[in-house]
Amino acid sequence: MIEIRDKHDCCGCNACVQKCPVRCIRVYADEEGFQYPAADAKVCIDCGMCENVCPEINGLPQRQPLHTFAVVNPNRQILKISSSGGVFTYLAEKILADDGVVFGAAFDVDWSVHHIAITTIEELSLLRGSKYLQSRIEDSYREAEMYLKTGRKVMFTGTSCQIEGLRLFLRKEYANLLAVECLCHGVPSPLVWQKYLRQTIGDKQIANISFRDKYTGWENYSFRIKMAEGEEFTELSRNNAYMKGFLSNIFLRPSCEQCPSKEGRSGSDILLADYWGVKFLHPEYYDKGGTGLVMTFTMKGEEMMKGIPCHSVALEEAKKYNAGFSCRAHRHKKRAQFFEKLEKEDIESLIRKYCRVSFLSRIEKKVINLKIKIRNKVK
Ligand SMILES: Cc1cc2nc3c(=O)[nH]c(=O)nc-3n(C[C@H](O)[C@H](O)[C@H](O)COP(=O)(O)OP(=O)(O)OC[C@H]3O[C@@H](n4cnc5c(N)ncnc54)[C@H](O)[C@@H]3O)c2cc1C
Ligand code: SF4
Ligand code: SF4
Ligand code: SF4
Repeated sequence: MIEIRDKHDCCGCNACVQKCPVRCIRVYADEEGFQYPAADAKVCIDCGMCENVCPEINGLPQRQPLHTFAVVNPNRQILKISSSGGVFTYLAEKILADDGVVFGAAFDVDWSVHHIAITTIEELSLLRGSKYLQSRIEDSYREAEMYLKTGRKVMFTGTSCQIEGLRLFLRKEYANLLAVECLCHGVPSPLVWQKYLRQTIGDKQIANISFRDKYTGWENYSFRIKMAEGEEFTELSRNNAYMKGFLSNIFLRPSCEQCPSKEGRSGSDILLADYWGVKFLHPEYYDKGGTGLVMTFTMKGEEMMKGIPCHSVALEEAKKYNAGFSCRAHRHKKRAQFFEKLEKEDIESLIRKYCRVSFLSRIEKKVINLKIKIRNKVK
């Protein structure tokens, strides 16, 4: 029976919860807002299935990619609204055109994030774009298995541990499954996100949120909330408190400090990431709208990339600018103090106190806000 003694040992993939034959594992959110499983010993039949599917207990082997590519989606509109090189949309469109099903992370009604399945091109916008908080997997592995068994094509996307959880849950190879991992730095606490959101926009109705708005560029992206009444909250990502806290690792899930799924261990067919550093390494493949870094791990993955211009690049070079493929997140030294004060203190001040923003960044923020005001007036 699964028992979480140390929070570092559970990435929250929900594989155990979905696998339990007597459904005796419930999910609860801890004081930091992360979800964990808790089995009911009175109902448990001691079958051990929950432990068999846990990525933290049964690590998959490390793998090197077959190829590493620089890729840019040639559709400029798609590239603009995607976080990196727009490769997710390219792959998803192929699967949907073949009457397949695509799983990925979408906003829920309260702007938390959970995994859903889509079957039409119109629904793709729900999954497109990185949402920087942990997505709840809920029952999506079971749902994916159901589609796979009917022979329908399934593309399942998520963070590396979510893909590893899926692989272990399924326990067999399906020719009709394409598993796509998004290279993952770590996932922030859903509780911190809700607190930040409510403090920032109050009771205003939200129309859309983008963690990676390319209005200010791919490398220099912005965090943007569009309100239903047309008003906007936009900040350069590097000046935005939430993004600053995320990238400083102050409110990441504890398991991200010892991520079980790095370096190909997820069992994915394809990995998607940002090709940071492409400007210096391969200026010929640099696109100011975003260049994606794609790794293929299987022949199925290679096959899926056919039809989009891919430029083969060296993995070792790319890793120098994108350490996330191998390196785990380091705990912020004030993480414990941050969570202790979270309930009582103003969240923006708390983040700014522990993750200081430089004087230069504050000036830049003023300039960008001025530009946005002028642009809104011109509109
Ligand atoms: C939490 C998180 C951390 C990341 N950290 C890094 C990093 O350190 N370095 C790096 O190079 N890339 C990172 N990425 C990946 C990067 O942000 C892009 O998602 C990826 O490059 C694909 O971009 P795209 O333009 O092809 O597609 P997009 O349309 O931008 O991405 C959509 C895809 O992202 C998935 N997705 C969105 N939010 C979540 C979520 N919360 N949980 C699971 N899946 C989600 C969707 O299911 C869909 O598959 C991270 C992504 C996430 C979600
Ligand atoms: S051992 Fe079996 S019955 Fe018990 S919690 Fe795990 S999966 Fe459920
Ligand atoms: S890592 Fe996944 S399978 Fe393992 S205990 Fe946590 S939720 Fe369950
Ligand atoms: S860093 Fe690893 S453990 Fe954390 S969410 Fe990402 S893939 Fe999962």
